[in-house]
Amino acid sequence: MNIYYKTQQDIDGIKASADILGRVHGEITKMVKPGVATQDIDKMAEEFIKDHKAQPSFLNYNEFPASLCISVNSMVVHGVPSKYELKEGDIVSIDCGVFFNGYHSDSAYTHPVGEIDPKTMKLLKATKESLYEGIAAMKMGGRLGDVGFAIQKHVEAQGFSVVRELVGHGVGKDLHEDPVVQNYGKRGDGKKLLNGLVIAIEPMINMGKKDVVKSEDKHGIRAADGKPSAHFEHTVGILNGKVEILTTFKYIEAVRNL
Ligand code: MG
Ligand code: MG
Repeated sequence: MNIYYKTQQDIDGIKASADILGRVHGEITKMVKPGVATQDIDKMAEEFIKDHKAQPSFLNYNEFPASLCISVNSMVVHGVPSKYELKEGDIVSIDCGVFFNGYHSDSAYTHPVGEIDPKTMKLLKATKESLYEGIAAMKMGGRLGDVGFAIQKHVEAQGFSVVRELVGHGVGKDLHEDPVVQNYGKRGDGKKLLNGLVIAIEPMINMGKKDVVKSEDKHGIRAADGKPSAHFEHTVGILNGKVEILTTFKYIEAVRNL
């Protein structure tokens, strides 16, 4: 498999897609409250994306039946929205992809629902920080292993574990392109980071052990030990030797007052 290195025009296309994606995440954030059914959040997001002349990237992808992956508590990723109503103390990872004018963008954020346990809050904080540690380790001419190493080091230092079975990926004209982006690894290992590379970096971090199992809904993946799991994701590119985060959490954080 080959990596498709993007031009300036491609990256501008991904940014336009990512702007819609950022706004959807903002609208989603307003709905993350106790008593809200996850399927209602999904429905709103689907309408919002279509109202912006875009398509939800995940809908019907590998038979996935929804526009958002909504993964509560021990669900790591790929949770199917349902009648389940969020409750105080839950954490909920919401992953969304938008396809606009020929380009996909992909990002995820794990929200606390009301007040949560301090140790779980620490997991969310560490996972989000690890995403930015990974991005900071992404340097023109460096290696993909530098990114995975930085993520792994940050979370393991706090006693959390990196899920191995699920990884980040190249993104652009296709939702999932080469290369595979592991959230663990060795410095100096793996593919060279070159101009035009666009990847979704998405640490999936468990409070307990790293092992995962398939959930009964046939899409979701759960932490095998039933402990909480967090997930944050940005689409990130390198152009003209500089690393740029193409997706944004600014609409989420404006709602959450962060
Ligand atoms: Mg995603
Ligand atoms: Mg992704």
